[in-house]
Amino acid sequence: LRLRGVRCASSWSRFTAPPMVYISGEEMSRYTMELIMDKWVKPSVDISKWEFYDLSCKERDATNDQVLKDAVAAGARIGSIFKEPTITPTKKQMASMGLSRPLGSPNGLMRRGWNGITISRDTIHIPGIELGFKRPVLFERHAVGGEYGAGWKKVGKGRVLTTFFPESMDEGKPIIVDGREVKDDRSCVVVYDNPLDNVEDLAHIFFQRCLEAKVVPYVVTKKTVFKWQEGFWQIMKEVFDAKYKADFLQAGLLEKTHGELQHLISDAATMQIIRWTDGGFGMACHNYDGDMLTDEVAQVHRSPGFITSNLIGKREDGALIKEFEASHGTVADLWHAHLRGEETSMNPLGMVVALLGSMDHAAALAQDPKAIEVTSHFTKCCQAAVYEAFRSGKGTRDMAGPEGSTTEQFVNTVAEDLLR
Ligand code: NAD
Repeated sequence: LRLRGVRCASSWSRFTAPPMVYISGEEMSRYTMELIMDKWVKPSVDISKWEFYDLSCKERDATNDQVLKDAVAAGARIGSIFKEPTITPTKKQMASMGLSRPLGSPNGLMRRGWNGITISRDTIHIPGIELGFKRPVLFERHAVGGEYGAGWKKVGKGRVLTTFFPESMDEGKPIIVDGREVKDDRSCVVVYDNPLDNVEDLAHIFFQRCLEAKVVPYVVTKKTVFKWQEGFWQIMKEVFDAKYKADFLQAGLLEKTHGELQHLISDAATMQIIRWTDGGFGMACHNYDGDMLTDEVAQVHRSPGFITSNLIGKREDGALIKEFEASHGTVADLWHAHLRGEETSMNPLGMVVALLGSMDHAAALAQDPKAIEVTSHFTKCCQAAVYEAFRSGKGTRDMAGPEGSTTEQFVNTVAEDLLR
């Protein structure tokens, strides 16, 4: 492999990667990452400064979930995290794995532990291959709030009063948020809150990323009907007008939106995502909308394997904590095929982009120019080798069709190219 005329392996000497957290998960995605670590990373990179946490169900069960708490604490301390997909076990999986207690999704604890601001989800593009969108599509999904943390109860006929009590009663009296009559025999009452303190941080991250990628920014809500969503839009617009509008105008990125930041209603956004296949846009939205819309983006762009998923939080010292993962799950069906001895073809691109992103961020946090240079050289070569495998028809079968590589062949092709 030649990158900018340089033979990769011969142009680097083994280097020590700056500290980061590596979280392993389960099934096919774990198996594939083990191959990649053994064949692409370990031959060239000394990873002795990385901290490893095993978030398999077995390990979480055996440690009474201490391993998850330790992983979150390490992530907050170090600031750069790679995470493989994990399983949040169903009752059936609890029984089949012999787990002693239910295990919750690790995501909530991570988002809280790392002061999660946003989950950035972007399309991945392989130069020379057209996927769904021609140019990048960027998403900023608010990492907190909404339906995910809702409290709820099944109720019958009656009345509901939702009252807010200020933390300090000196600062004000209780406020009645809502009072309503429930008229059905069977209903569900749901209560949730929507934090706004970190929307300003989200706005800065979003607009800076849109500017860098040269894409048109949109803010997506359903505020016309859900009046409480007005606050999100207002904060985004204030930050935009005060800090970014001039730069976007200068870059010619507001021509389609009449020189202003444009708001899109979320149902209109679902349609535009299918129509705007030229790409070149970014959307910032609430938590649940972001969850749905980014799955739609993944489908238009051919596969969840071609979408990044990075949780961005903030350390107390202001440095950004970044957790990088693929947007797909553990790819359980291929794992079961693998266990049956059948051939599989798992596309590792999403996980690889995540791993390389976490290595680059770890180097940036280390603030050591040499570490940044050697890490970036390795990650660029690795990425180029993966792209080259796809371009030369040796990609996995989701891209290359039935003639494409198996999971193991793909890893070997890239390894040979990298170490040539
Ligand atoms: P999945 O993303 O693992 O798979 C969905 C389908 O897409 C499967 O048919 C799979 O073969 C295919 N697929 C996905 N990624 C692929 C890739 N890179 N290459 C080839 N094919 C790919 O989702 P699922 O089957 O619904 O979930 C499996 C497990 O993953 C569940 O236990 C779920 O809880 C977990 N999960 C974890 C995360 C996470 O940790 N971030 C996210 C989603 C699901």
